[in-house]
Amino acid sequence: MRLAILLAVMLAFPAQAQVERRNHSIIASGLGVAFPSDYACEPISSPFASPTRYDGSSRRGDRNAGLHGGMDISLKAGTRLLAIAGGEIIALGEGGALEGIYIWLRHTPIDTGSPYFVFSKYQHLSALPGLKVGDRVKAGDVVGLSGATGTAGKHYGPNGYAHLHLTTFYGPSGEYEIKGMHDSMVSGQNAQLDDPLILYLEDIHDISALRGLPDKRQTVRPAVVDADGRIFPESRKTVWPVPCKVLTKH
Ligand SMILES: [Zn+2]
Repeated sequence: MRLAILLAVMLAFPAQAQVERRNHSIIASGLGVAFPSDYACEPISSPFASPTRYDGSSRRGDRNAGLHGGMDISLKAGTRLLAIAGGEIIALGEGGALEGIYIWLRHTPIDTGSPYFVFSKYQHLSALPGLKVGDRVKAGDVVGLSGATGTAGKHYGPNGYAHLHLTTFYGPSGEYEIKGMHDSMVSGQNAQLDDPLILYLEDIHDISALRGLPDKRQTVRPAVVDADGRIFPESRKTVWPVPCKVLTKH
């Protein structure tokens, strides 16, 4: 029975289409971001699935088909990086080129209020954070400081490019394996690489809906954290990964 369905599917989709679908695991979500009007937040300098870097140059075609596998925010080195939701530290260390010092968090559906597990990776930290595997953090807690580790040389020049690269995977399970040459790749069971902005969608009731997001551009409105660590709106479970400046007094 299963085989019959599989055969039917294979006949319905020509081989070429199947290859293309596999090769394009990075698909733009159509999401944009807006912040509360009284706050100034660092913008996204290169969104998920973008073919260009922060400076408008084209990405290397040999990595992810030249598409961005995460979201970049240009930052001064030493900027506090914040947990996008409550979670547990599941890995941290020093990765290879284009990776730098990294930290991985796992967020459960209880942490995020969403019906899936999220695995988040923060890259290019200036130093190893004073956290260890197994530690718990709350949304908005500092998980490290921004830096340029892993970016010096080649395109970014000798001083590198100070920024946060945030990668997120979404999956049905909290189970994961640690893989990769530097033990820096967390592979969540059946988890899918996708746009970090998806975290801030509030009306996703089923993980399969993530890949079916409409092409129509939607705007997400994340909660933000100010310099004193206050979350606004305070009821929210997920926050922007970098502190924002308050423009007017509340
Ligand atoms: Zn990046």
